[in-house]
Amino acid sequence: MTETIRSVRGMNDILPEVTPYWQSIEQTLKDTLAGYGYQEIRFPIVEKTELFKRSIGEVTDIVEKEMYTFEDRNGDSLTLRPEGTAGCVRAAMENGLLNQTQRLWYSGPMFRHERPQKGRYRQFHQLGVEAYGFSGPDIDAEMILMTARLWKKLGLNGVTLQINSLGTTEARQQYRQQLVAYFEANHQLLDEDSQRRLHSNPLRILDSKNPEMQALNEAAPKLLDHLDDESRAHFQTLCAMLDAAGVPYEINPRLVRGLDYYGKTVFEWVTDQLGAQGTVCAGGRYDALVQQLGGKASTAIGFAIGLERLIALLEANDALPKPEAVDAYLVAVGEQASKQSLLLAEQLRDQLPDIKLLCHCGGGSFKNQFKRADRSGARWTLILGDDEVANKVIGVKVMATGEQHTIEWNALAAFLAQ
Ligand code: ATP
Ligand code: MG
Repeated sequence: MTETIRSVRGMNDILPEVTPYWQSIEQTLKDTLAGYGYQEIRFPIVEKTELFKRSIGEVTDIVEKEMYTFEDRNGDSLTLRPEGTAGCVRAAMENGLLNQTQRLWYSGPMFRHERPQKGRYRQFHQLGVEAYGFSGPDIDAEMILMTARLWKKLGLNGVTLQINSLGTTEARQQYRQQLVAYFEANHQLLDEDSQRRLHSNPLRILDSKNPEMQALNEAAPKLLDHLDDESRAHFQTLCAMLDAAGVPYEINPRLVRGLDYYGKTVFEWVTDQLGAQGTVCAGGRYDALVQQLGGKASTAIGFAIGLERLIALLEANDALPKPEAVDAYLVAVGEQASKQSLLLAEQLRDQLPDIKLLCHCGGGSFKNQFKRADRSGARWTLILGDDEVANKVIGVKVMATGEQHTIEWNALAAFLAQ
């Protein structure tokens, strides 16, 4: 017997009973972003491996162990994008978008070879937002206010905002020395991951999800206490803007984010309703990245929403949007009726371009077809038999009340449009 081929571990099918939720949520996200003047950009799913190594950083989890990297037929090393920021910057640079300010968004699949579990997959989806060329804290505030509005529009409660500032590269370097000294003094308390990171990427230790590391991390010196003046002023202005807008936040001095390119503002929207995978949206400022990738210095800030986690959270909150049923289900029994039904349906679609009309197709008894009509959730069942065809009329059953009407074909659109 031939063995069936299954999907790749951690890569999920999103089935038709679920796609309406995705579509509706994506539409809300897109409409909200458009309301702030953000424009969509689409860039490839595959990029040169070097792009991610240089931008995300060689000693991050993503580059060290999570990338899907392969050689293409020319021998070039390519990688399935693990996130969107790098590709977005590359595309903006390459197409001359950085000559002026930009507000951009994108959405699509990302790939990371992680251990699959609830809220953590190997193919997952992000909606990412990036702005280039704005250096002040007002754009930081705009992005955060925009995410707060998104949650409000989606009916999502139970997410809290955490913010922090990572300062400039210099401030971080000085702080790094203090942090390494602190962790070295407590070496016996470091878990295996943290020991590995101690000299390669000590700030990441603060981001540890191991509960046994928590006490040690809480007592660690804080980067916020070692900020340069400019970063401190930037952060204070941001906080004041959030206060003025009435958006509550928590300052989390241990929020460092997993990618190397961040500086100054970082933020996450977190929930305790999704277990360990509690970050729904994460972002921050990355002013140094464009230059690091060989472009002319341009300030930048962005965030990404994990769509699987957002949808799981909406589900946990009973806040998934109601999928829309079809408006009408057309049943047709008899030779003439079957022939006529598709033509009638096309005519109706010409007259009512927004109508959602399901034609039965495939024949069967009235009883069977009615059962389908019922299950479809349609508001009306349209009934066509050979008698109706002979008289150029159609039966219309109002599903909510059971009322039946006989309507002439040329009056049908007007009847349904009432
Ligand atoms: P985590 O700490 O949970 O691993 P991260 O810091 O690696 O997250 P980012 O690179 O900041 O995540 O990605 C932004 C968002 O994308 C995350 O907050 C999360 O909602 C989502 N995300 C990241 N990795 C995955 C994954 N493997 N599966 C599903 N969603 C993910
Ligand atoms: Mg991760």
